[in-house]
Amino acid sequence: MTNGLMIDLHSHSNISDGLLSPTELVAHAAQHGVSVLALTDHDDISGLPEAKQAASLHGIQLIHGVEISVTWKKRTLHIVGLNVDVENEVLKTGLAAVRQGRLERAKQMAAGLEKSGIHGSFEWASAKAGQSILTRMHFARFLVEHQYAKDTKSVFKKFLVKGKPGFVDHQWMDLESAVSLIVNSGGEAVLAHPGRYDIRRTNMLLLLEEFRGLGGTAIEVVTGSHTGAQYVEYAKYAQLFGLKASQGSDYHGKGISFMEMGRLPALPSGCIPVWQDWPHVQLPSDQYQ
Ligand code: AMP
Ligand code: MN
Ligand code: MN
Ligand code: MN
Repeated sequence: MTNGLMIDLHSHSNISDGLLSPTELVAHAAQHGVSVLALTDHDDISGLPEAKQAASLHGIQLIHGVEISVTWKKRTLHIVGLNVDVENEVLKTGLAAVRQGRLERAKQMAAGLEKSGIHGSFEWASAKAGQSILTRMHFARFLVEHQYAKDTKSVFKKFLVKGKPGFVDHQWMDLESAVSLIVNSGGEAVLAHPGRYDIRRTNMLLLLEEFRGLGGTAIEVVTGSHTGAQYVEYAKYAQLFGLKASQGSDYHGKGISFMEMGRLPALPSGCIPVWQDWPHVQLPSDQYQ
């Protein structure tokens, strides 16, 4: 809670790999006490108009967001864009290219699973995704449904990761392009869940330096993907680099989420919230008295 506002700046609908439609997601957020919500689907902003409409019905302030997949030094990183312009043509075209790459990767993932004797994953994942993008989460759900793993979390230990069946070493967008797309469409670029990457301190310092140099302004400090110790660790990194701090549940839906909505603890003291200068999350001044 911040000044009575529950702020959640990272969530997914079924436009990407979440289970709820944008409308259902916003309703879920409202039920869980969230008052400022960013919808940040992977590589896709097409759920935002629907979410915006639902948000106005529920009295939620919707932040237009996106989570872009990036390859940096052979690793996959996620860059969240907050307050992006959904009408920006360059952003739309850039995201369309990433989605095309996803489709190719999905075919390769299915071929890899086939080699391990696991059949029909592409057809199942495509049917579940419908018009939406294909993610590893769709394949994870296939593997759980067909009893190759007990839950999606264990899928990401046995499948779809480096050295395991279904892994594809995919080339995503480069960091510079992703940050530019976000910043040039009026948004703020936020390094998502830095604690989830297999990056040691030296490379983390390099990454943050480069990210800031390219125009990135914040990192996620409190996220469903971080432990309590990581909240403190990444608050220190943010301070070291003069970056602002973001927070978000990364909610995907019941049973496949890192964290339920409405449960985010406050940012550690000393953090500058990414929303500090956003007009939409300022309380009327009399509420501070
Ligand atoms: P993709 O962007 O298609 O590679 O899919 C990555 C998605 O899979 C992430 O956004 C998460 O939703 C999910 N995911 C990745 N790693 C894990 C994990 N260890 N546990 C649970 N979900 C994961
Ligand atoms: Mn996801
Ligand atoms: Mn992510
Ligand atoms: Mn996410």
